[in-house]
Amino acid sequence: MKKVWTYSLRKPDNETVARLIDQNNYTYIVATKAMERERYKLIPAEQLNRNNKPIAVFQDVISLWLEKVGEPVARKSDTNLLLRRAIDTVTKQDPQLADILKTDLSSWLKALADLAEEGIQLSHGWDPQKYDALVNPFVGDLLVKLQKAYYDELGNSGKVLFEDAARRYLRQQYRPAPVILLEGFTYLTKLQRLYVKECIRLGARVHFIVPFREEQPRAFEQIRQTYADVTDWTRLPEHPITKEHDLQALQTEFLNLSNYPVPVQGNSIRMVSFPSRDREILACINQISEWLQAGYKPDQIAIVMRSPSDFKEQFRDMLHLHPIKYRDQDGNLHQISMAKSPRLLLLTPVGRFILTLYQIWKNNQLDMSADNFESIVSSGWLGVELQDSTSRFRAIKPQRFSHLRSFREWNQALDELRANRDSSGRLPEALALQEEIDRWKETVKALESVCRKLFSTNGTFKDHIRILQNELESIVPENIRKSEQEVLDQIRDAFRELENANSFPITTDEFGASIHAIARAANNDEEEEVEEDPIYSDTLRIVSPESIDGQNYACVWYIGVDNVRVPRSPSLPWPFFEDDREQHLNKERYMFVTVLRSIQSQAVFSYAREDAGHSYQASIYLREIERKFLQPLINHEWKDMHVSHQAPEITVGLPSYALGLRETFSLNEIAHYGLCPIRYHLETLHPEADVYRSEWQLTKAVQGIWLANVLESLTKERRLMNVSQILEKAIQVKQGVKLGLYRKFPSFDAVSWEEVEQRVQEALETMFSFNNYPKQVLPGMPFSWKVPIEERNNFIEVTTRIPYVLRSGKIEYPIMNSDLHQEFLLPGKKHSGPSNEENGLGLFSSQYHAVQWWRNIHRDLLTIKRNPENSMHSQEGKRRLNEANKRIGYWVEMIRDNHFPKRPGDHCRSCSVRFECLGLHTETIQGVDG
Ligand code: SF4
Repeated sequence: MKKVWTYSLRKPDNETVARLIDQNNYTYIVATKAMERERYKLIPAEQLNRNNKPIAVFQDVISLWLEKVGEPVARKSDTNLLLRRAIDTVTKQDPQLADILKTDLSSWLKALADLAEEGIQLSHGWDPQKYDALVNPFVGDLLVKLQKAYYDELGNSGKVLFEDAARRYLRQQYRPAPVILLEGFTYLTKLQRLYVKECIRLGARVHFIVPFREEQPRAFEQIRQTYADVTDWTRLPEHPITKEHDLQALQTEFLNLSNYPVPVQGNSIRMVSFPSRDREILACINQISEWLQAGYKPDQIAIVMRSPSDFKEQFRDMLHLHPIKYRDQDGNLHQISMAKSPRLLLLTPVGRFILTLYQIWKNNQLDMSADNFESIVSSGWLGVELQDSTSRFRAIKPQRFSHLRSFREWNQALDELRANRDSSGRLPEALALQEEIDRWKETVKALESVCRKLFSTNGTFKDHIRILQNELESIVPENIRKSEQEVLDQIRDAFRELENANSFPITTDEFGASIHAIARAANNDEEEEVEEDPIYSDTLRIVSPESIDGQNYACVWYIGVDNVRVPRSPSLPWPFFEDDREQHLNKERYMFVTVLRSIQSQAVFSYAREDAGHSYQASIYLREIERKFLQPLINHEWKDMHVSHQAPEITVGLPSYALGLRETFSLNEIAHYGLCPIRYHLETLHPEADVYRSEWQLTKAVQGIWLANVLESLTKERRLMNVSQILEKAIQVKQGVKLGLYRKFPSFDAVSWEEVEQRVQEALETMFSFNNYPKQVLPGMPFSWKVPIEERNNFIEVTTRIPYVLRSGKIEYPIMNSDLHQEFLLPGKKHSGPSNEENGLGLFSSQYHAVQWWRNIHRDLLTIKRNPENSMHSQEGKRRLNEANKRIGYWVEMIRDNHFPKRPGDHCRSCSVRFECLGLHTETIQGVDG
């Protein structure tokens, strides 16, 4: 006998349900964990698990029965692993296919579990109807092979699939209690239907308790269809969920098509659209804070998301930025947090260190990329000093480390860096400290040794965790930061939780894959974890409509109620085609109604009009509420924080402090001040700031270094050579020095070298063939001169150097190309605009003008040096240098006055401090190009 008990508003209380059972011997099964928690007093003693915890969720109850009869049911993590093994068996010849199948592991697991639930063994041949429903015959072939291999793996490890064991048990061994009560099932899976069928066959009475209102047929169509075969329906006495009239109307009249419209009065419901998701979440956080101040407790508030994984991280981040504090009735101050699974800690930097360990070992040797090493260094697990070297490692990576993989390569690269590091100039290797290089080397060695031990043992999951923990303990130094130490301790808890994940021997690769899968699952299933957690008084609950079914909260905010998420689009059927669109819509409609029926006092439904580049409109359900109840949908017009020009400026100020009165400045840095004062300032603040840390910058700088190598070698030729001779010689040298450069920039790939070489060739051709006079390259020379600082009545010294001089016929020219590449990366864009002076500081209007000024000074310095003091050329050179000195003097005054405005423009593209400069709040002078 089957009977459906329905309640139209508030769920019946425990006493009412107990009266319905009217029996001491019964089985009680519910649809959600939340309901299990709420109804724990009704759960009979036979349903206590080995920890004496009452359980009532269908899968858990069946698992308990299977455990009692000794069925070795595979856990979720077991099935994950065994299917991976099955995929390897089936795709032996095709690693690409293996990767594709493993990426979609959860879909294949579900497809195989569904087959098992129906009791389908494909090795016995296809049922023609099932075969015709396949979305693709290739998928069908794979399913047959995978199912066989999967069952072989299950057999080899002594495990059985839950669905198979459950079917067998229910059909052959199960003896039901006289009364079975199933509460809250919106729909029944095939296994649940089999369970009900077996109970009836064996003479039990099966009672269902579900919400239902015949006055709202559209809203409850899903329930009607689920229990269509039950003829005995009885309505329980009605108890309202809320006292608020507008909410009552919403709960009883929504999708009741006969009463239309039903205008409501009250202020318990709000429907709001926001310009962006951030604004929507921020408004929700502010509202929660107000609800708490009004006296509601955190566990009386629910935040609903159709798929919590959509925005929960955004929510967590926003809550971090805008913490909510509240005072309880005893006056204690609490900070609201969101529930977090310890397994999620595997996604923190410290946790990533562990995950990375299982990615850096292949074919019994170290196979570690520079990115892997960087995440290990930055994790903090191996100590503060190592962690502090992260930024320098990252800077040197594109020059020295990007190509490294094996233990030998890492050692050679670090030895080479230690021995031949250029500690001056703008190359990132200048940053490397000797002791840091040694520390990196020790770390590579320690990692090699740890991985060798980790990967040398096979055992159960528990064994691997023990070995991992031992190895981790052995390499954690004393001086680990407090925050990392805390995470480390919590990860130990996560490990304890995971210890029994698999009970059969697995390889280290499989262990690595398992903990990666666990970390991913922890991230995706966090809402489920929230359900499992005890309710902490300071914890916010983010729930899905599925889990809120049958629950009541004083205040509910439903986020993301837009035309894409509510109702959700049906997913494409796979691997069997099945047209269940109608059923899908019934379910989605019911899911919206579950949220409506959960609210007791206050409700907000909201959506964002723009998010991640997509535009959204209100859900049709909100439009329906708007039409039927004449409730206005409010469009919030707050400015979007993503529209940068409208956003309030939240920037970091640069502290001003007196630099020691410098007596000497290089001409290079003065030229940089003249282009962008803040660049000069940032470069002087920190040694890391003035090196080139991107691959693009390095390929430009290396052109200068290559040219310098060629020119240096040509200075040894103590004779004039005709154009073709000197060019031929230069190209010869260019080839000769190539290997040395490869050693210095081992991370460059062939394409980068091709481009660099082409540019160097072009530069040499231009340098030596601009006229037909015989030529010779002469060594350069340093310069220094005094510049008066008029207002302070003193002098500073300016220094520079001409790296090489080109004698062409009788005339000598400074060759600045090699320094030009290294100092400015580009010669600067040719610009027809005003050269400068359009602002109070006389700054250059473009990099081109800065470079011209810098070049001309070198030309004048050489002219003055090479010509007699009173010659016309010399006099003219001195006049121009005096002009330049006035500008230098003025800028030095500005530097001493701490005046460093930002001067953005085209030159930002090649600026060494562009990342440090982003978001820095200073006076800004708009550049002509900017
Ligand atoms: S990025 Fe542009 S504005 Fe910023 S410091 Fe560099 S050159 Fe100046």
